Amino acid sequence: MTCGAPLGHLWEEFRRRVEAGEDPSKVLDDLGVYRYCCRRTLYTSVVYIEQVASYSAVRVNRLRVEGRGDLQ
Ligand SMILES: [Zn+2]
Repeated sequence: MTCGAPLGHLWEEFRRRVEAGEDPSKVLDDLGVYRYCCRRTLYTSVVYIEQVASYSAVRVNRLRVEGRGDLQ
């Protein structure tokens, strides 16, 4: 369950600052995201993106091994 608050406009700044090394909970405080449902939504999105990115790297490496590095 979520409160339905719009979060999309916060996503880019949140992701950029977390990738720059800031503490996710501090960034959420700065953005005024205090409800747990909203914090969870943004925070788990970052975790999810990192997992997808790691799978992408594996896939790219496999394609290189197969001599298909042009298919990224
Ligand atoms: Zn919420």
